[in-house]
Amino acid sequence: MTHVIDGNAVADRITDGLEACVETLEAEQVTPGLATVLMSDDPASETYISMKQQGCADLGIESIHRELDPSASADDLFEIVAALNDDPDVHGILVQMPVPDHVDSTRVLRTIDPLKDVDGFHPENVGRLVAGDPRYKPCTPHGIQKLLEAADVDTEGTDAVIVGRSDIVGKPMANLLIQKAPGGNATVTVCHSRTEDLAAKTREADIVIAAAGVPELVDGSMIGDGAVVIDVGVNRVEVDTEKGYELVGDVEFESAMENARTITPVPGGVGPMTIAMLLYNTVKATAIQEDVSVDLP
Ligand code: NAD
Repeated sequence: MTHVIDGNAVADRITDGLEACVETLEAEQVTPGLATVLMSDDPASETYISMKQQGCADLGIESIHRELDPSASADDLFEIVAALNDDPDVHGILVQMPVPDHVDSTRVLRTIDPLKDVDGFHPENVGRLVAGDPRYKPCTPHGIQKLLEAADVDTEGTDAVIVGRSDIVGKPMANLLIQKAPGGNATVTVCHSRTEDLAAKTREADIVIAAAGVPELVDGSMIGDGAVVIDVGVNRVEVDTEKGYELVGDVEFESAMENARTITPVPGGVGPMTIAMLLYNTVKATAIQEDVSVDLP
């Protein structure tokens, strides 16, 4: 029987643990604050922001929201980020990506105070992760690490294949899995759009992590017997229903189930973990900046 990981249940367990941390902070008269900045009228970005705000509200984290018209100048955005950097009530800052083309997204990430960089994308935090001394682990890969742990998957000595080399999922996932630390010690192969014979790589893997943004790219024939399959993909595909679309992952769930030992569904797998780990980083950022010791879950 294939074990289907319940990402909502694992995420709930993390947020329960964070509740205790928020109480510890409150006892020291500290309320964590997360600032979100939106410079887009893309409905998906708006949805992600409101999910993050809801997560904050549920946990007693103060949300601060700043919105700019997509036609505003890059300098307007940098001024907002600078003001949030200086605001002592703000412990975490998240600029929702993508930003419009006329804004240099790399510069945006560099403008955020590294101590408030709860996405973990500032070069200082990326460097610390690569150097094996992470401060804020990027939310999606960190969430996957927690899912694997919750499903009793020991990564040590395994062959892991990651499909996708993005800065937000593929690369940091590879960095986490090769760390000489619990949840790491795997032998990692990172595949991408130029990889030849992807199926030959995934078939040999003990753990397949699909983060390509291609609907059902990985099917059952590409999964070795007894492998662990983590599906990061969230793809909107058109269907002939009233809603007009449905969300599918990067893995063809039904056929992958036939070979996998453990698998995550879409939705209800990795997605809820991404939000939970953002709240985790916000609590951690608050504890660091306010010099309060908390017992993170
Ligand atoms: P991206 O577009 O930045 O990167 C995709 C990567 O996949 C690239 O490195 C590319 O080389 C590789 N790729 C594309 N086609 C490929 C193919 N045919 N074979 C092998 N590799 C291929 O995407 P991203 O931001 O990393 O996101 C990937 C997917 O994960 C998307 O569907 C996104 O919506 C989803 N996502 C989900 C969450 C979540 O919380 N569930 C978080 C982040 C991203």
